[in-house]
Amino acid sequence: MDISSSTSNYCPKCKIVLTAEEIGNDVFLVCGNCGYKKEASYVEHKCTKCGCDRAFVHYHGATRGDEDDLIFYTCVRCGSVEREGYAV
Ligand SMILES: [Zn+2]
Ligand SMILES: [Zn+2]
Repeated sequence: MDISSSTSNYCPKCKIVLTAEEIGNDVFLVCGNCGYKKEASYVEHKCTKCGCDRAFVHYHGATRGDEDDLIFYTCVRCGSVEREGYAV
């Protein structure tokens, strides 16, 4: 599964960042310029700031062998980013 392409939050036409919008029970990424809309892929992750339980997930692979992978959670509601690593 290619996570990176499903989380590229840019409008293919305008090349600007899409904004998350909750519509019903789903989250969409919407372009404020042309109205382009796509369903967002998100995971369950509790935001410590606003209590929202959905976040976009982004995996950041290790760039060096001695580094651990990182997971970034971006809250769909407030945009707060939380980092989680595999490191102990
Ligand atoms: Zn657009
Ligand atoms: Zn939040």
